[in-house]
Amino acid sequence: MNNHRKIEDFKKHRVLPLQKGYIYGPVKSRRLGSSLGLNLLPRNYKLCSFNCIYCQYGLNAPQNPDLISATFDDLPTVSDIKKALLAALASLKEKIDYITFSGNGEPTLHANFPAIVEVVKDIRDRYAGRARLAILSNSTTINKPEVVKALMKLDTPLMKLDAGSEKLFKKINRPAGGVDFNKIVEGLIEFKHPNLIIQALIMGGPDLNATDDNLEKWAYLLSKIKPIEVQIYSLDRPPARPDIIKLSSKELDDIASRVSELSGIPVKAF
Ligand code: SF4
Repeated sequence: MNNHRKIEDFKKHRVLPLQKGYIYGPVKSRRLGSSLGLNLLPRNYKLCSFNCIYCQYGLNAPQNPDLISATFDDLPTVSDIKKALLAALASLKEKIDYITFSGNGEPTLHANFPAIVEVVKDIRDRYAGRARLAILSNSTTINKPEVVKALMKLDTPLMKLDAGSEKLFKKINRPAGGVDFNKIVEGLIEFKHPNLIIQALIMGGPDLNATDDNLEKWAYLLSKIKPIEVQIYSLDRPPARPDIIKLSSKELDDIASRVSELSGIPVKAF
């Protein structure tokens, strides 16, 4: 599908506007405080290896991580990001806690992600030493050595794992062909970042990820991955599908306690 066709096909399903720039915010969040967002992805459509049923940006055709660099030519260059970040930091009127790779899809799909991490880290060190570097990633590139090497240079990788089984993974995250649940789990187990955080959106709804069966399987995987922390949250914006149910704070707190007990890992509900 060419890019223009994709925009036309999917923009009608969008539920939140896409990020219009390479840099956005600072965004205030309970998890990251004041965070300046970096969008390494196209500015007029979502580019992701998942097509999550709850995605705030609506639906997309999921892209195989191995085919991205050959197919897409409308991503920002290393120089675009460098210029935009320097300009954003120069005009900031407040201190920021984080500079966060996130944006309109999966940041590690950018073919020059490792080079961009180098540049961003250098700029952070020189002009925003107090800010930590984070990423919100869907974990689909965790088996790529060059991506892992770049992730190791960040202070806080927040990696997605929403499901405890391949069946539910496919149902919730709807990955591109070739994206393998077991390989993602293996990659996360091997990823020895000292500040690894696993993040998951937990939602109610028929046979989704708040069921006892899923929580038990998911807790088992978490006990193998051994992150320093697990962060769970529910929907705070309209999902792509209306039949997915937002959990209450009490329900999330109960799930956090239960999964923490089962996995031995601290779980925080947001
Ligand atoms: S990983 Fe994130 S950007 Fe990609 S489809 Fe899921 S929620 Fe949307």
